[in-house]
Amino acid sequence: MSRDDLLHSLSSRIADERVLAAVAAVPRELFVAPSLQQFAYADRPLPIGGGQTISQPTLVARMCELLELGDDDVVLDVGSGSGYHAAVLSRLCRHVYGIELDAELAEEAARSLRLAGIENVTLAAGDGAAGLSEHAPFHAINVAAAAADEVPPALEAQLAVGGRLIAPVAHGDAERLVFVRRGPAGLERTRLNAVRFVPLR
Ligand code: SAH
Repeated sequence: MSRDDLLHSLSSRIADERVLAAVAAVPRELFVAPSLQQFAYADRPLPIGGGQTISQPTLVARMCELLELGDDDVVLDVGSGSGYHAAVLSRLCRHVYGIELDAELAEEAARSLRLAGIENVTLAAGDGAAGLSEHAPFHAINVAAAAADEVPPALEAQLAVGGRLIAPVAHGDAERLVFVRRGPAGLERTRLNAVRFVPLR
């Protein structure tokens, strides 16, 4: 699939023009190994080392759409992996703080983001299930690895009022995307479609 084919196929499933423009603006080939660059615009996850994968473009776009990002938003990206999802988020908000458990992946992701000319993403290596309290609260939180049974409470706690969170949650063998909004009266959780993610470790 070429870059144009991918964008064309996304445009039939994603309504938000800002999100489509953000995906179009990020060169996904910079976030995969040279040997996989020929597959960079296939709509599927690809291996990035450490047993992990770069997120699938459709899922990245859908999650970005659900987060309803505004230009001034500050976003937390948990499980930044290759940095690709963070790169797309960065086109839709003011700043992205990314946290990745695997320090080698985090270093590689920082390099890819630099090559892509993206300057509003700050990456840290560490356990993202605890969030990033020094930069909280966040207008939006994006989680790329599936937590067991519930969204980590520390992440929900770091949502600003009006803030949105999207996270895969595993219940036994089944996984669903969960959407959380902090409304004036507290947290509102919605279970969305079935998905398949790597586990949050
Ligand atoms: N968004 C990434 C996808 C990475 S896959 C991309 O676009 O490339 C999910 C990532 O979550 C993996 O890199 C894995 O190392 C990371 N991860 C798993 N558990 C984590 C945790 N507790 N804290 C931070 N990162 C975690």
